[in-house]
Amino acid sequence: MHKILVSACILGESVRYDGKNNLLKNDSLHQWISQERVIPFCPEVACGMPVPRRAAEINGGDGHDVLAGSATVIDNAGFDVTDEFKSGAQQALAACNRHNIKIAILAQRSPSCGNNTIYDGSFSGTTIAGSGVTAALLTQHGIKVFNQTELHEAAHYLKELDLNEIR
Ligand code: SF4
Repeated sequence: MHKILVSACILGESVRYDGKNNLLKNDSLHQWISQERVIPFCPEVACGMPVPRRAAEINGGDGHDVLAGSATVIDNAGFDVTDEFKSGAQQALAACNRHNIKIAILAQRSPSCGNNTIYDGSFSGTTIAGSGVTAALLTQHGIKVFNQTELHEAAHYLKELDLNEIR
């Protein structure tokens, strides 16, 4: 039975930069938790950043660009936290490898976890298409990343993974 990496804040852990969470109540998610499939993970806590912490956004691109060295992650006081975000992403990938994880459900718009939309680096609330650093790294390693509005699609993908396992 395949396990799923899930953003800890979606599971109700108050690990966001502002000390809050993104608790999601959903039947599929509860079922996966009861099946012991869910591995909670917060890349920003894993890399040693505190809760609360300063908000950060990707500057000059998205997570793929950060990993390629052409964009940075800057917090709202102007400090470069690129290394921390890359470290968190590497630790998320290591967790996936440990548990043979092929699917992740990550919180949307986060500079770490966002899978298709992130903030644009201006701290103005403006979003752009793109991935966070962790979502980008997992995707580059063949792990399918969904956000919390895509649980129906995630459930379908998980079913395919389970079927392929028993074929
Ligand atoms: S890094 Fe990801 S798991 Fe951690 S608080 Fe931000 S969105 Fe949630």
